[in-house]
Amino acid sequence: MTYLAVPIAARNLEQAKQQVKAALAAGAQILELRMDYLEGLSVDLVEQLIAETKAAAGVAIIVTCRDKQRGGANDWPLELRSDVLELACNSGADFIDCEWESYLSTEANAKLDTAVADNPNVKLMLSAHSFDGPFSSGLEALRQEIGQQRADVIKLVYTANHINDCFEAFDLLGRGRGDLIVFCMGQAGLISRILAKKLGAFLTFASIDEDTATAPGQLTIKELKNLYRWDAIKTDTELYGVIGSPIAHSLSPAIHNACFADAKLNKLYLPLLMEGDRADFSVFVDNCLSRPWLGFRGFSITIPHKRNALEYVRQKGGFVESLAEKIGAVNTIVFEPRATSDERRITAYNTDYAGALDAISSALGIRQSGLKELPVAVVGAGGVARAIVAGLSDIGAKIKIYNRTVAKAEKLAAEFACDYAGLDHLPDLDAKLLINCTSIGMHPNVDVSPVSTEVLKQDMAVFDTVYNPAETLLLKQAKAAGAKTISGLDMFINQAAAQFKLFTGRSPDVEFMRKTILTYLQK
Ligand code: NAP
Repeated sequence: MTYLAVPIAARNLEQAKQQVKAALAAGAQILELRMDYLEGLSVDLVEQLIAETKAAAGVAIIVTCRDKQRGGANDWPLELRSDVLELACNSGADFIDCEWESYLSTEANAKLDTAVADNPNVKLMLSAHSFDGPFSSGLEALRQEIGQQRADVIKLVYTANHINDCFEAFDLLGRGRGDLIVFCMGQAGLISRILAKKLGAFLTFASIDEDTATAPGQLTIKELKNLYRWDAIKTDTELYGVIGSPIAHSLSPAIHNACFADAKLNKLYLPLLMEGDRADFSVFVDNCLSRPWLGFRGFSITIPHKRNALEYVRQKGGFVESLAEKIGAVNTIVFEPRATSDERRITAYNTDYAGALDAISSALGIRQSGLKELPVAVVGAGGVARAIVAGLSDIGAKIKIYNRTVAKAEKLAAEFACDYAGLDHLPDLDAKLLINCTSIGMHPNVDVSPVSTEVLKQDMAVFDTVYNPAETLLLKQAKAAGAKTISGLDMFINQAAAQFKLFTGRSPDVEFMRKTILTYLQK
Protein backbone atom coordinates (compact mmCIF):
# COMPACT_ATOMS: atom_id res chain seq x y z
CA MET A 1 0.00 0.00 0.00
CA THR A 2 1.19 3.51 -0.78
CA TYR A 3 -0.16 6.00 1.75
CA LEU A 4 -1.43 9.43 0.85
CA ALA A 5 0.36 11.66 3.35
CA VAL A 6 -0.62 15.25 4.02
CA PRO A 7 1.76 17.71 5.69
CA ILE A 8 0.27 19.84 8.46
CA ALA A 9 2.27 23.04 8.16
CA ALA A 10 0.66 25.27 10.79
CA ARG A 11 1.97 28.25 12.70
CA ASN A 12 -0.15 27.54 15.80
CA LEU A 13 -2.43 24.95 17.38
CA GLU A 14 -5.65 26.49 16.08
CA GLN A 15 -4.37 26.52 12.50
CA ALA A 16 -3.16 22.93 12.92
CA LYS A 17 -6.60 21.85 14.14
CA GLN A 18 -8.23 23.29 11.01
CA GLN A 19 -5.63 21.73 8.70
CA VAL A 20 -5.97 18.30 10.35
CA LYS A 21 -9.75 18.46 9.92
CA ALA A 22 -9.46 19.48 6.26
CA ALA A 23 -6.79 16.83 5.53
CA LEU A 24 -8.85 14.03 7.05
CA ALA A 25 -11.98 15.16 5.22
CA ALA A 26 -10.03 15.14 1.94
CA GLY A 27 -8.84 11.55 2.51
CA ALA A 28 -5.39 11.81 4.14
CA GLN A 29 -4.08 8.41 5.23
CA ILE A 30 -1.06 9.72 7.17
CA LEU A 31 -0.51 13.16 8.68
CA GLU A 32 2.95 14.67 8.74
CA LEU A 33 3.20 17.22 11.56
CA ARG A 34 5.77 19.75 10.38
CA MET A 35 6.85 21.10 13.77
CA ASP A 36 9.37 23.45 12.12
CA TYR A 37 6.44 25.66 11.02
CA LEU A 38 5.24 26.32 14.61
CA GLU A 39 5.78 29.83 15.97
CA GLY A 40 7.58 29.77 19.34
CA LEU A 41 8.42 26.07 18.98
CA SER A 42 8.77 24.30 22.34
CA VAL A 43 8.47 20.70 23.54
CA ASP A 44 5.23 21.63 25.37
CA LEU A 45 3.68 22.91 22.15
CA VAL A 46 4.77 19.77 20.33
CA GLU A 47 3.30 17.52 23.03
CA GLN A 48 0.01 19.37 22.83
CA LEU A 49 -0.13 19.22 19.03
CA ILE A 50 0.55 15.48 18.97
CA ALA A 51 -2.09 14.84 21.65
CA GLU A 52 -4.73 16.94 19.86
CA THR A 53 -3.96 15.36 16.48
CA LYS A 54 -4.09 11.84 17.91
CA ALA A 55 -7.45 12.61 19.48
CA ALA A 56 -8.84 13.93 16.20
CA ALA A 57 -7.28 11.50 13.71
CA GLY A 58 -7.50 7.77 13.34
CA VAL A 59 -4.50 7.75 11.02
CA ALA A 60 -0.76 7.40 11.58
CA ILE A 61 1.29 10.48 12.47
CA ILE A 62 4.78 11.38 11.27
CA VAL A 63 6.59 14.02 13.28
CA THR A 64 9.15 16.08 11.41
CA CYS A 65 11.13 19.12 12.49
CA ARG A 66 12.94 19.96 9.29
CA ASP A 67 16.31 21.70 9.33
CA LYS A 68 16.15 25.10 7.57
CA GLN A 69 18.95 23.96 5.24
CA ARG A 70 16.81 20.98 4.16
CA GLY A 71 13.67 22.98 3.43
CA GLY A 72 12.59 23.74 7.01
CA ALA A 73 10.36 26.77 7.63
CA ASN A 74 12.44 28.18 10.53
CA ASP A 75 16.01 28.02 11.69
CA TRP A 76 15.59 25.95 14.88
CA PRO A 77 18.82 24.66 16.51
CA LEU A 78 19.71 20.98 16.16
CA GLU A 79 19.33 20.41 19.88
CA LEU A 80 15.72 21.64 19.92
CA ARG A 81 14.92 19.71 16.73
CA SER A 82 16.22 16.46 18.20
CA ASP A 83 14.40 17.17 21.51
CA VAL A 84 11.19 17.51 19.48
CA LEU A 85 11.73 14.15 17.78
CA GLU A 86 12.66 12.49 21.06
CA LEU A 87 9.50 13.83 22.66
CA ALA A 88 7.45 12.68 19.67
CA CYS A 89 8.67 9.10 20.28
CA ASN A 90 7.50 9.30 23.88
CA SER A 91 4.18 11.00 23.02
CA GLY A 92 2.64 8.53 20.63
CA ALA A 93 3.94 9.51 17.16
CA ASP A 94 4.00 6.55 14.76
CA PHE A 95 7.02 7.81 12.79
CA ILE A 96 9.72 10.37 13.36
CA ASP A 97 11.48 11.76 10.31
CA CYS A 98 15.06 12.94 10.82
CA GLU A 99 17.34 14.36 8.12
CA TRP A 100 20.24 12.09 7.35
CA GLU A 101 22.71 14.93 7.94
CA SER A 102 21.23 15.71 11.39
CA TYR A 103 21.15 12.02 12.32
CA LEU A 104 24.87 11.81 11.57
CA SER A 105 25.59 14.22 14.43
CA THR A 106 26.53 12.15 17.48
CA GLU A 107 24.20 14.13 19.72
CA ALA A 108 21.03 13.57 17.67
CA ASN A 109 21.99 10.02 16.80
CA ALA A 110 22.35 8.86 20.44
CA LYS A 111 19.17 10.65 21.54
CA LEU A 112 17.00 9.30 18.74
CA ASP A 113 18.37 5.76 18.84
CA THR A 114 17.53 5.56 22.53
CA ALA A 115 14.07 7.10 22.08
CA VAL A 116 13.21 4.72 19.25
CA ALA A 117 14.59 1.70 21.17
CA ASP A 118 12.45 2.67 24.18
CA ASN A 119 9.32 2.95 21.97
CA PRO A 120 9.17 -0.13 19.74
CA ASN A 121 5.98 1.11 18.03
CA VAL A 122 7.76 4.17 16.69
CA LYS A 123 9.43 3.86 13.31
CA LEU A 124 12.49 5.85 12.31
CA MET A 125 12.43 7.55 8.93
CA LEU A 126 15.77 8.89 7.68
CA SER A 127 15.53 11.41 4.88
CA ALA A 128 17.87 13.14 2.48
CA HIS A 129 17.04 16.10 0.23
CA SER A 130 18.83 17.62 -2.74
CA PHE A 131 17.32 20.93 -3.83
CA ASP A 132 19.66 21.67 -6.76
CA GLY A 133 19.14 18.48 -8.72
CA PRO A 134 19.78 14.72 -8.46
CA PHE A 135 22.09 13.54 -5.65
CA SER A 136 25.70 13.74 -6.81
CA SER A 137 26.49 10.44 -5.07
CA GLY A 138 23.77 8.62 -7.02
CA LEU A 139 20.48 7.46 -5.54
CA GLU A 140 21.31 3.77 -5.12
CA ALA A 141 24.62 4.54 -3.38
CA LEU A 142 22.87 6.89 -0.98
CA ARG A 143 20.16 4.32 -0.24
CA GLN A 144 22.84 1.77 0.59
CA GLU A 145 24.72 4.20 2.81
CA ILE A 146 21.60 5.18 4.78
CA GLY A 147 20.44 1.55 4.77
CA GLN A 148 23.45 0.63 6.92
CA GLN A 149 21.73 2.46 9.79
CA ARG A 150 18.63 1.17 11.51
CA ALA A 151 16.16 3.18 9.41
CA ASP A 152 12.67 1.66 9.06
CA VAL A 153 11.84 3.92 6.12
CA ILE A 154 14.33 5.72 3.84
CA LYS A 155 13.18 8.91 2.17
CA LEU A 156 15.18 10.35 -0.74
CA VAL A 157 13.91 13.51 -2.38
CA TYR A 158 15.59 15.59 -5.08
CA THR A 159 14.70 18.27 -7.57
CA ALA A 160 14.18 17.10 -11.13
CA ASN A 161 15.63 19.78 -13.40
CA HIS A 162 14.20 17.86 -16.34
CA ILE A 163 11.61 15.09 -16.60
CA ASN A 164 14.43 12.72 -17.61
CA ASP A 165 15.85 13.12 -14.06
CA CYS A 166 12.82 11.15 -12.76
CA PHE A 167 13.99 7.80 -14.16
CA GLU A 168 16.63 7.35 -11.45
CA ALA A 169 13.84 7.55 -8.86
CA PHE A 170 11.67 5.12 -10.86
CA ASP A 171 14.56 2.65 -11.14
CA LEU A 172 15.20 2.68 -7.39
CA LEU A 173 11.51 2.16 -6.59
CA GLY A 174 11.29 -0.44 -9.36
CA ARG A 175 13.99 -2.52 -7.64
CA GLY A 176 11.65 -2.56 -4.62
CA ARG A 177 13.91 -3.08 -1.62
CA GLY A 178 12.30 -2.15 1.69
CA ASP A 179 10.10 0.78 2.61
CA LEU A 180 11.20 3.66 0.44
CA ILE A 181 9.90 7.13 -0.26
CA VAL A 182 11.51 8.44 -3.44
CA PHE A 183 10.20 11.31 -5.53
CA CYS A 184 11.31 14.43 -7.35
CA MET A 185 10.44 18.02 -6.53
CA GLY A 186 9.60 20.71 -9.08
CA GLN A 187 7.25 20.73 -12.06
CA ALA A 188 9.52 18.34 -13.98
CA GLY A 189 9.20 15.86 -11.12
CA LEU A 190 5.44 16.00 -10.77
CA ILE A 191 4.84 12.58 -12.35
CA SER A 192 7.08 10.91 -9.76
CA ARG A 193 4.62 11.96 -7.03
CA ILE A 194 1.75 10.31 -8.92
CA LEU A 195 3.66 7.20 -10.00
CA ALA A 196 4.81 6.58 -6.40
CA LYS A 197 1.70 4.42 -5.99
CA LYS A 198 2.23 2.35 -9.13
CA LEU A 199 5.86 1.77 -8.13
CA GLY A 200 5.06 0.79 -4.54
CA ALA A 201 6.59 3.71 -2.64
CA PHE A 202 5.75 3.82 1.07
CA LEU A 203 3.89 7.12 0.64
CA THR A 204 3.47 10.21 -1.46
CA PHE A 205 2.78 13.69 -0.14
CA ALA A 206 -0.13 15.86 -1.20
CA SER A 207 -1.30 19.18 0.18
CA ILE A 208 -4.77 20.17 1.35
CA ASP A 209 -4.74 23.10 -1.07
CA GLU A 210 -2.19 25.16 -3.03
CA ASP A 211 -1.59 27.53 -0.08
CA THR A 212 -0.48 24.74 2.27
CA ALA A 213 1.91 22.97 -0.15
CA THR A 214 5.25 22.41 1.57
CA ALA A 215 7.41 21.65 -1.47
CA PRO A 216 7.63 22.71 -5.12
CA GLY A 217 5.52 20.56 -7.43
CA GLN A 218 3.40 19.11 -4.60
CA LEU A 219 -0.11 18.29 -5.85
CA THR A 220 -3.28 18.79 -3.84
CA ILE A 221 -5.18 15.70 -2.62
CA LYS A 222 -8.07 16.77 -4.84
CA GLU A 223 -5.82 16.80 -7.93
CA LEU A 224 -4.31 13.42 -7.08
CA LYS A 225 -7.68 11.81 -6.43
CA ASN A 226 -9.95 13.54 -8.96
CA LEU A 227 -7.60 14.36 -11.82
CA TYR A 228 -4.93 11.65 -11.57
CA ARG A 229 -7.07 8.67 -10.50
CA TRP A 230 -5.07 8.02 -7.30
CA ASP A 231 -7.54 5.49 -5.93
CA ALA A 232 -7.51 3.49 -9.18
CA ILE A 233 -3.72 3.31 -9.68
CA LYS A 234 -2.31 -0.22 -9.42
CA THR A 235 1.09 -1.75 -10.10
CA ASP A 236 -0.06 -2.85 -13.57
CA THR A 237 -1.82 0.41 -14.55
CA GLU A 238 -0.95 1.34 -18.14
CA LEU A 239 0.45 4.82 -18.66
CA TYR A 240 -0.23 7.52 -21.25
CA GLY A 241 0.50 11.22 -21.26
CA VAL A 242 0.81 14.46 -23.16
CA ILE A 243 4.36 15.52 -24.03
CA GLY A 244 4.84 19.26 -24.50
CA SER A 245 6.05 22.52 -23.02
CA PRO A 246 4.31 24.30 -21.41
CA ILE A 247 1.91 21.61 -20.26
CA ALA A 248 0.45 22.74 -16.92
CA HIS A 249 -2.76 24.06 -18.49
CA SER A 250 -3.37 21.23 -20.95
CA LEU A 251 -6.91 19.85 -20.83
CA SER A 252 -5.73 16.45 -22.08
CA PRO A 253 -5.11 14.84 -18.63
CA ALA A 254 -8.58 15.89 -17.47
CA ILE A 255 -10.32 14.61 -20.57
CA HIS A 256 -8.44 11.29 -20.97
CA ASN A 257 -8.45 10.39 -17.27
CA ALA A 258 -12.17 11.12 -17.04
CA CYS A 259 -12.78 8.87 -20.06
CA PHE A 260 -10.50 6.11 -18.71
CA ALA A 261 -12.45 6.24 -15.44
CA ASP A 262 -15.80 6.33 -17.24
CA ALA A 263 -14.83 3.23 -19.27
CA LYS A 264 -13.38 1.56 -16.11
CA LEU A 265 -9.99 1.10 -17.77
CA ASN A 266 -6.82 0.40 -15.81
CA LYS A 267 -5.09 3.36 -17.45
CA LEU A 268 -3.66 6.68 -16.29
CA TYR A 269 -2.84 9.81 -18.29
CA LEU A 270 -0.05 12.15 -17.14
CA PRO A 271 1.16 15.67 -18.01
CA LEU A 272 4.72 15.19 -19.33
CA LEU A 273 6.60 18.48 -19.25
CA MET A 274 9.28 18.11 -21.91
CA GLU A 275 11.69 21.03 -21.91
CA GLY A 276 14.50 21.06 -24.45
CA ASP A 277 14.88 19.77 -27.95
CA ARG A 278 14.66 16.60 -29.99
CA ALA A 279 17.51 14.96 -28.06
CA ASP A 280 15.65 15.41 -24.75
CA PHE A 281 12.47 14.09 -26.34
CA SER A 282 14.30 11.01 -27.66
CA VAL A 283 15.97 10.29 -24.31
CA PHE A 284 12.57 10.38 -22.62
CA VAL A 285 10.84 8.02 -25.05
CA ASP A 286 13.89 5.71 -25.11
CA ASN A 287 13.78 5.65 -21.29
CA CYS A 288 10.10 4.67 -21.38
CA LEU A 289 10.65 1.98 -24.03
CA SER A 290 13.59 0.43 -22.22
CA ARG A 291 11.55 0.11 -19.01
CA PRO A 292 8.53 -1.99 -19.99
CA TRP A 293 7.70 -2.41 -16.28
CA LEU A 294 6.82 1.30 -16.19
CA GLY A 295 3.91 0.48 -18.48
CA PHE A 296 3.95 3.43 -20.90
CA ARG A 297 1.66 2.64 -23.84
CA GLY A 298 1.28 5.90 -25.73
CA PHE A 299 1.55 9.66 -25.86
CA SER A 300 -0.25 12.71 -27.11
CA ILE A 301 2.27 15.18 -28.49
CA THR A 302 1.88 18.92 -28.46
CA ILE A 303 3.94 22.10 -29.04
CA PRO A 304 6.91 22.11 -29.56
CA HIS A 305 7.50 18.38 -30.08
CA LYS A 306 5.19 17.33 -32.95
CA ARG A 307 8.03 17.32 -35.48
CA ASN A 308 10.44 15.72 -32.99
CA ALA A 309 7.92 12.93 -32.51
CA LEU A 310 7.73 12.32 -36.25
CA GLU A 311 11.50 12.20 -36.60
CA TYR A 312 11.81 9.91 -33.59
CA VAL A 313 9.36 7.35 -34.96
CA ARG A 314 10.94 7.53 -38.41
CA GLN A 315 14.39 6.94 -36.91
CA LYS A 316 13.07 3.94 -34.98
CA GLY A 317 11.62 2.52 -38.18
CA GLY A 318 8.10 2.69 -36.77
CA PHE A 319 4.89 3.17 -38.71
CA VAL A 320 3.88 6.76 -39.56
CA GLU A 321 0.39 7.42 -40.95
CA SER A 322 0.81 8.84 -44.48
CA LEU A 323 -0.94 12.18 -43.94
CA ALA A 324 1.08 12.72 -40.74
CA GLU A 325 4.20 12.30 -42.94
CA LYS A 326 2.81 14.87 -45.36
CA ILE A 327 1.88 17.29 -42.57
CA GLY A 328 5.34 16.78 -41.07
CA ALA A 329 3.92 16.47 -37.56
CA VAL A 330 2.70 13.75 -35.25
CA ASN A 331 0.35 14.31 -32.31
CA THR A 332 -0.13 10.69 -31.20
CA ILE A 333 2.33 7.88 -30.56
CA VAL A 334 1.22 4.38 -29.63
CA PHE A 335 3.44 1.53 -28.44
CA GLU A 336 2.31 -1.90 -29.54
CA PRO A 337 3.19 -4.02 -26.51
CA ARG A 338 2.42 -7.37 -28.12
CA ALA A 339 4.52 -6.88 -31.26
CA THR A 340 7.96 -8.40 -31.03
CA SER A 341 10.19 -6.59 -33.50
CA ASP A 342 11.31 -3.07 -32.59
CA GLU A 343 10.22 -1.73 -35.98
CA ARG A 344 6.59 -2.58 -35.35
CA ARG A 345 6.53 -1.40 -31.78
CA ILE A 346 5.84 2.30 -32.40
CA THR A 347 3.09 3.79 -34.52
CA ALA A 348 2.47 7.49 -35.09
CA TYR A 349 -0.58 9.47 -36.19
CA ASN A 350 -1.92 12.97 -36.55
CA THR A 351 -5.48 13.22 -35.25
CA ASP A 352 -5.58 17.06 -35.53
CA TYR A 353 -6.45 17.13 -39.23
CA ALA A 354 -9.04 14.35 -38.96
CA GLY A 355 -10.55 16.08 -35.92
CA ALA A 356 -10.83 19.33 -37.88
CA LEU A 357 -12.24 17.74 -41.04
CA ASP A 358 -14.83 15.80 -39.03
CA ALA A 359 -15.86 19.00 -37.23
CA ILE A 360 -16.27 20.82 -40.57
CA SER A 361 -18.14 18.07 -42.42
CA SER A 362 -20.53 17.34 -39.57
CA ALA A 363 -21.30 21.06 -39.04
CA LEU A 364 -21.95 21.49 -42.76
CA GLY A 365 -23.93 18.26 -42.91
CA ILE A 366 -21.85 16.90 -45.80
CA ARG A 367 -19.35 14.10 -46.37
CA GLN A 368 -15.68 15.09 -46.40
CA SER A 369 -15.62 14.49 -50.17
CA GLY A 370 -18.17 17.32 -50.42
CA LEU A 371 -15.38 19.75 -49.48
CA LYS A 372 -13.76 19.18 -52.90
CA GLU A 373 -13.48 22.48 -54.86
CA LEU A 374 -14.80 24.43 -51.84
CA PRO A 375 -13.14 27.87 -51.62
CA VAL A 376 -11.50 28.00 -48.17
CA ALA A 377 -9.64 30.85 -46.46
CA VAL A 378 -7.18 29.69 -43.81
CA VAL A 379 -5.91 32.41 -41.46
CA GLY A 380 -2.56 31.42 -39.96
CA ALA A 381 0.36 29.31 -41.16
CA GLY A 382 1.50 27.51 -38.00
CA GLY A 383 1.15 23.89 -36.93
CA VAL A 384 -2.64 23.73 -36.83
CA ALA A 385 -2.96 25.55 -40.19
CA ARG A 386 -0.52 23.06 -41.66
CA ALA A 387 -2.55 20.04 -40.49
CA ILE A 388 -5.82 21.53 -41.75
CA VAL A 389 -4.33 22.66 -45.08
CA ALA A 390 -2.86 19.18 -45.62
CA GLY A 391 -6.21 17.52 -44.85
CA LEU A 392 -8.25 19.90 -46.99
CA SER A 393 -5.84 19.86 -49.92
CA ASP A 394 -5.89 16.05 -49.83
CA ILE A 395 -9.65 16.28 -50.45
CA GLY A 396 -9.19 18.90 -53.18
CA ALA A 397 -10.48 22.10 -51.54
CA LYS A 398 -9.38 25.44 -53.08
CA ILE A 399 -7.34 27.00 -50.29
CA LYS A 400 -5.93 30.48 -49.79
CA ILE A 401 -3.66 31.01 -46.77
CA TYR A 402 -3.49 34.40 -45.04
CA ASN A 403 -0.77 35.02 -42.49
CA ARG A 404 0.88 37.84 -40.57
CA THR A 405 4.31 36.62 -41.68
CA VAL A 406 3.72 36.38 -45.43
CA ALA A 407 6.85 34.32 -46.07
CA LYS A 408 5.41 31.53 -43.89
CA ALA A 409 2.13 31.61 -45.80
CA GLU A 410 4.09 31.44 -49.06
CA LYS A 411 6.10 28.44 -47.89
CA LEU A 412 3.04 26.51 -46.72
CA ALA A 413 1.12 27.41 -49.88
CA ALA A 414 4.00 26.17 -52.06
CA GLU A 415 4.02 22.79 -50.31
CA PHE A 416 0.31 22.17 -50.79
CA ALA A 417 -0.24 24.08 -54.07
CA CYS A 418 -2.46 26.81 -52.56
CA ASP A 419 -2.73 30.59 -52.88
CA TYR A 420 -1.47 32.91 -50.17
CA ALA A 421 -1.60 36.53 -49.04
CA GLY A 422 -0.89 38.80 -46.07
CA LEU A 423 -3.55 39.63 -43.48
CA ASP A 424 -4.11 43.02 -45.16
CA HIS A 425 -5.82 41.12 -48.01
CA LEU A 426 -8.45 39.58 -45.72
CA PRO A 427 -11.11 42.23 -46.57
CA ASP A 428 -11.03 40.98 -50.19
CA LEU A 429 -11.49 37.32 -49.36
CA ASP A 430 -13.96 35.29 -51.33
CA ALA A 431 -14.49 31.98 -49.55
CA LYS A 432 -17.33 29.75 -48.42
CA LEU A 433 -15.36 28.50 -45.44
CA LEU A 434 -13.17 30.70 -43.23
CA ILE A 435 -10.88 29.00 -40.71
CA ASN A 436 -8.97 30.81 -37.96
CA CYS A 437 -5.77 28.92 -37.20
CA THR A 438 -4.14 31.69 -35.18
CA SER A 439 -4.30 32.17 -31.42
CA ILE A 440 -6.17 35.47 -31.85
CA GLY A 441 -9.24 35.48 -29.56
CA MET A 442 -7.88 32.83 -27.23
CA HIS A 443 -8.22 33.18 -23.44
CA PRO A 444 -7.36 35.60 -21.85
CA ASN A 445 -7.41 37.91 -24.90
CA VAL A 446 -11.03 37.13 -25.72
CA ASP A 447 -12.00 40.58 -27.05
CA VAL A 448 -10.16 40.34 -30.36
CA SER A 449 -10.99 38.71 -33.67
CA PRO A 450 -8.69 37.86 -36.61
CA VAL A 451 -11.01 39.44 -39.21
CA SER A 452 -13.24 42.51 -39.39
CA THR A 453 -17.02 41.95 -39.33
CA GLU A 454 -17.41 43.10 -43.00
CA VAL A 455 -15.62 39.94 -44.11
CA LEU A 456 -18.28 37.70 -42.54
CA LYS A 457 -21.19 36.77 -44.83
CA GLN A 458 -24.43 34.86 -44.43
CA ASP A 459 -23.52 32.21 -47.02
CA MET A 460 -20.26 31.41 -45.25
CA ALA A 461 -19.22 28.86 -42.62
CA VAL A 462 -16.73 30.08 -40.02
CA PHE A 463 -14.51 27.69 -38.06
CA ASP A 464 -12.41 28.97 -35.19
CA THR A 465 -9.82 26.42 -34.05
CA VAL A 466 -9.45 28.30 -30.76
CA TYR A 467 -11.42 26.32 -28.14
CA ASN A 468 -10.94 28.41 -25.05
CA PRO A 469 -13.44 30.08 -24.95
CA ALA A 470 -15.77 27.67 -26.71
CA GLU A 471 -17.50 30.62 -28.42
CA THR A 472 -14.90 33.18 -29.47
CA LEU A 473 -15.61 36.75 -30.54
CA LEU A 474 -15.12 35.61 -34.17
CA LEU A 475 -17.84 32.96 -33.78
CA LYS A 476 -20.19 35.45 -32.07
CA GLN A 477 -19.69 37.91 -34.93
CA ALA A 478 -20.13 35.16 -37.55
CA LYS A 479 -23.36 34.05 -35.87
CA ALA A 480 -24.58 37.66 -35.88
CA ALA A 481 -23.83 37.85 -39.62
CA GLY A 482 -25.96 34.74 -40.16
CA ALA A 483 -23.02 32.46 -40.99
CA LYS A 484 -22.76 28.84 -39.86
CA THR A 485 -20.26 28.44 -37.02
CA ILE A 486 -17.92 25.61 -36.05
CA SER A 487 -16.19 25.67 -32.66
CA GLY A 488 -12.60 24.64 -32.01
CA LEU A 489 -14.07 22.60 -29.19
CA ASP A 490 -15.48 20.15 -31.74
CA MET A 491 -12.05 19.75 -33.31
CA PHE A 492 -10.49 19.32 -29.88
CA ILE A 493 -13.04 16.70 -28.87
CA ASN A 494 -12.70 14.85 -32.20
CA GLN A 495 -8.89 14.70 -32.00
CA ALA A 496 -9.05 13.56 -28.36
CA ALA A 497 -11.70 10.96 -29.26
CA ALA A 498 -9.48 9.66 -32.07
CA GLN A 499 -6.54 9.46 -29.65
CA PHE A 500 -8.69 7.62 -27.11
CA LYS A 501 -9.58 5.10 -29.80
CA LEU A 502 -5.90 4.65 -30.73
CA PHE A 503 -5.00 4.22 -27.04
CA THR A 504 -7.81 1.83 -26.13
CA GLY A 505 -9.29 0.35 -29.31
CA ARG A 506 -12.69 1.68 -28.14
CA SER A 507 -14.82 4.65 -29.09
CA PRO A 508 -15.30 7.08 -26.21
CA ASP A 509 -18.57 8.61 -25.09
CA VAL A 510 -18.18 11.90 -26.98
CA GLU A 511 -20.94 13.70 -25.09
CA PHE A 512 -19.24 12.77 -21.81
CA MET A 513 -15.98 14.17 -23.24
CA ARG A 514 -17.70 17.42 -24.16
CA LYS A 515 -19.23 17.80 -20.68
CA THR A 516 -15.86 17.12 -19.06
CA ILE A 517 -14.12 19.78 -21.16
CA LEU A 518 -16.86 22.34 -20.64
CA THR A 519 -16.68 21.78 -16.87
CA TYR A 520 -12.93 22.40 -16.95
CA LEU A 521 -13.22 25.46 -19.19
CA GLN A 522 -15.84 26.94 -16.84
CA LYS A 523 -13.38 26.59 -13.95
P1 NAP B 1 1.65 28.15 -34.07
O1 NAP B 1 2.29 27.06 -34.84
O2 NAP B 1 2.46 28.88 -33.06
O3 NAP B 1 1.07 29.22 -35.12
C1 NAP B 1 0.47 30.39 -34.67
C2 NAP B 1 -0.13 31.13 -35.84
O4 NAP B 1 -0.86 32.25 -35.31
C3 NAP B 1 0.90 31.70 -36.81
O5 NAP B 1 0.35 31.68 -38.11
C4 NAP B 1 1.07 33.14 -36.30
O6 NAP B 1 1.47 34.03 -37.31
C5 NAP B 1 -0.35 33.45 -35.90
N1 NAP B 1 -0.45 34.50 -34.90
C6 NAP B 1 -0.15 34.39 -33.58
N2 NAP B 1 -0.38 35.57 -32.97
C7 NAP B 1 -0.81 36.43 -33.92
C8 NAP B 1 -1.21 37.79 -33.91
N3 NAP B 1 -1.22 38.50 -32.80
N4 NAP B 1 -1.62 38.36 -35.06
C9 NAP B 1 -1.64 37.64 -36.21
N5 NAP B 1 -1.27 36.34 -36.30
C10 NAP B 1 -0.86 35.75 -35.16
O7 NAP B 1 0.38 27.62 -33.28
P2 NAP B 1 -0.59 26.41 -33.70
O8 NAP B 1 -0.11 25.15 -33.11
O9 NAP B 1 -0.81 26.46 -35.16
O10 NAP B 1 -1.92 26.80 -32.90
C11 NAP B 1 -2.71 27.91 -33.32
C12 NAP B 1 -4.00 27.93 -32.50
O11 NAP B 1 -4.78 26.77 -32.80
C13 NAP B 1 -3.78 27.82 -30.99
O12 NAP B 1 -3.61 29.10 -30.43
C14 NAP B 1 -5.04 27.14 -30.47
O13 NAP B 1 -5.98 28.09 -30.03
C15 NAP B 1 -5.57 26.43 -31.69
N6 NAP B 1 -5.53 24.97 -31.51
C16 NAP B 1 -6.71 24.31 -31.53
C17 NAP B 1 -6.72 22.94 -31.37
C18 NAP B 1 -8.04 22.23 -31.36
O14 NAP B 1 -8.04 21.00 -31.19
N7 NAP B 1 -9.14 22.93 -31.52
C19 NAP B 1 -5.53 22.23 -31.24
C20 NAP B 1 -4.32 22.93 -31.22
C21 NAP B 1 -4.34 24.31 -31.36
P3 NAP B 1 3.04 34.23 -37.63
O15 NAP B 1 3.42 33.10 -38.53
O16 NAP B 1 3.10 35.55 -38.28
O17 NAP B 1 3.76 34.18 -36.31
